[in-house]
Amino acid sequence: MFTIAVANQKGGVGKTTTAVNLATAFAATGQSVLLIDLDPQGNASTGLGISTEDRQTTSYEVLLEPASVSQSVLATAVPNVYLIPSTIDLVGAEVELASASQRNLRLRSALRRVAPDSFDYVFVDCPPSLNVLVINALSAANSVLVPLQCEFYALEGLAKLYNTIQIVQRSINPSLHLLGILLTMSDPRTRLSTQVIQDARDTLGDQVLETVIPRNIRLSEAPSHGLPALLYDPGCAGSQSYIQAAREIRDRIGIGGQERVRGRRYSE
Ligand code: ATP
Ligand code: MG
Repeated sequence: MFTIAVANQKGGVGKTTTAVNLATAFAATGQSVLLIDLDPQGNASTGLGISTEDRQTTSYEVLLEPASVSQSVLATAVPNVYLIPSTIDLVGAEVELASASQRNLRLRSALRRVAPDSFDYVFVDCPPSLNVLVINALSAANSVLVPLQCEFYALEGLAKLYNTIQIVQRSINPSLHLLGILLTMSDPRTRLSTQVIQDARDTLGDQVLETVIPRNIRLSEAPSHGLPALLYDPGCAGSQSYIQAAREIRDRIGIGGQERVRGRRYSE
């Protein structure tokens, strides 16, 4: 079981779209995948077609009572993709965990109760924050994937994220690695996108994946149909780019190519 936290405290950069479509791309090659929705917005749950009525045992219960993990896993319409859903209740977890023991280790403890051969990969869709939910994700994960939107100020805030990852590495999870940075929502026709991609590659080097996810309307339409874009329109440019990204990520995992976060290699 290899766990990937999809994290960036910036909102709307493509975390959920990435988590849902990469989970689907991995599953399409016969891997069994668990997606954990760790965002009170519940977008990954909606994007996989799970209605709020069907979210009985959620990531909220899993954090408060790690033993409930086995009851929380739902099958989805996507073959081989399973989901631990979330609802807005998860907002309360932050307050409730504040005084709880081992509050940063709840997700890790839950995943340890899952038989290692149940899933090949676990994706954790993080909220746009660096709160206790995200710390739980980083503490439970083998690696972090950071979606970065191709926009002005794309790199802003990255130092803070890296710093948080390093704190978790030092204090809780020494084997946590940065899997890579995935550039999202690029528009190759604009100079801005081209410039941001160049800047990211210049400053972050091979941390940045070769694959760039283009801005693609089909990717944004798919969630309203409760489907990953990969099923909604497998041939669209967005789906194809996620299939390509999944290949690249699998290669990185396979060759142990993940690298530790080496601290600031860029200035903000
Ligand atoms: P949040 O921080 O709120 O959780 P997020 O980082 O998970 O957001 P998404 O929800 O994946 O980001 O994407 C934000 C919005 O942009 C959504 O409406 C989504 O459908 C859309 N979107 C994501 N990626 C693309 C893309 N490559 N092309 C077009 N639209 C996209
Ligand atoms: Mg999201």
